[in-house]
Amino acid sequence: MTDPWETDERRALRELARDVVAKEIAPHVEQWETDGELPRELHKTFADAGLLGVSFPEPMGGGGGDAIDSAILSEEIILGGGSGGVVAGLMTHGIAIPHIARNGSPYLVDRYVKPTLAGELIGALAVTEPGGGSDVARIRTRAVRDGDAYVVNGSKTFITSGVRADFVTVAVRTGGEGHGGISLLVVDKGTPGFTVDRRLDKMGWRCSDTAELGFADVRVPVENLVGQENEGFVQIMQQFQSERLGLAVQAYATAQRCVDLTIPWVRERETFGRPLSSRQVVRHRVAEMARKAWVAKATTRAAMAAWQATGAAVLEVSMAKNTACQLCDEVVDDAVQLFGGTGYLRDSEVERHYRDSRILRIGGGTDEIMNEVISKLLPL
Ligand SMILES: Cc1cc2nc3c(=O)[nH]c(=O)nc-3n(C[C@H](O)[C@H](O)[C@H](O)COP(=O)(O)OP(=O)(O)OC[C@H]3O[C@@H](n4cnc5c(N)ncnc54)[C@H](O)[C@@H]3O)c2cc1C
Repeated sequence: MTDPWETDERRALRELARDVVAKEIAPHVEQWETDGELPRELHKTFADAGLLGVSFPEPMGGGGGDAIDSAILSEEIILGGGSGGVVAGLMTHGIAIPHIARNGSPYLVDRYVKPTLAGELIGALAVTEPGGGSDVARIRTRAVRDGDAYVVNGSKTFITSGVRADFVTVAVRTGGEGHGGISLLVVDKGTPGFTVDRRLDKMGWRCSDTAELGFADVRVPVENLVGQENEGFVQIMQQFQSERLGLAVQAYATAQRCVDLTIPWVRERETFGRPLSSRQVVRHRVAEMARKAWVAKATTRAAMAAWQATGAAVLEVSMAKNTACQLCDEVVDDAVQLFGGTGYLRDSEVERHYRDSRILRIGGGTDEIMNEVISKLLPL
């Protein structure tokens, strides 16, 4: 049976992505880390190369394909010298527009999905609030219907691409308490009362801008409701599986990149008159790093296969996210250790991966929340 990751089409996608990453991303990452954001033109460049719309339906301006194609793109961005931060900032539409693509009206698809996939608009997804992110069912940002609009009040935080975003898909409370009272509304930048209150300074993912957003009596047209009123929680949960797999892909690719960077380093670096790679303790440490990167990849790809086959696989996806992201943390730590003082310097790539890795166990559902999900699915 053909390996779905190795079809001719996907090999071509991988080669194209590798080429574009080498020219358009790798040479610029450090500058973008300093700038604290990605240039808008990068979205257009990726769109024009046929990469931004990967895994979105062709009639919406996407490139077709599925989660495997998105994963290949993320892998190549990281393996080619980019970073998790680049994936987060450039591919934010992967969390911002799927709900619109799946449940939104043709108007919303034309207004937001198509221009985003063309690289003309940047979108963000705003669920988390200053009061808490793990308990999505408890969000407090409220939207009250008033004639042909909803009036939104509240605040959101930790929003990826929130500083640059032209529109934000916002989780709001339109009904009563709990998960049954949540809806998704698309809010345009520039709508009176909608503000970027703060650009958040972070440990890692520094080239991906992150914002705190405010909503004070923001009037949002009713046609910007995604799907039906009070269906937002279900839409968010459907999408969480793909987001969690995406983070696990970042984790195994980052781990593999650190293995790839460490091997030539330990071969070249000499201490006490011999290369580091001649020491068994070093060789075994690198062997463990490679094993962990492989386990992270194999687990994630197995969970992805289960998810694609069943449309759910909540147990497998939660286990894969924790496995891959925890292993990535271990591998980046080993890489910094083997690079010695050089690994601690801001201009060494493993230092960046060390910092970038840490978010993966927090975003999209923390280690603890994944374990909560897993434990509920076990006969405990
Ligand atoms: C860089 C970055 C980018 C992000 N991007 C986005 C984005 O684009 N959109 C968005 O909506 N959100 C985004 N987030 C938010 C992210 O999803 C949340 O940070 C995450 O869900 C955790 O929520 P919290 O930070 O409020 O932590 P809390 O929910 O306050 O949890 C704090 C700690 O308590 C633990 N905990 C919570 N509940 C329990 C429990 N019942 N049992 C045991 N332990 C528990 C958690 O695991 C965690 O360790 C981003 C965050 C960061 C840092």
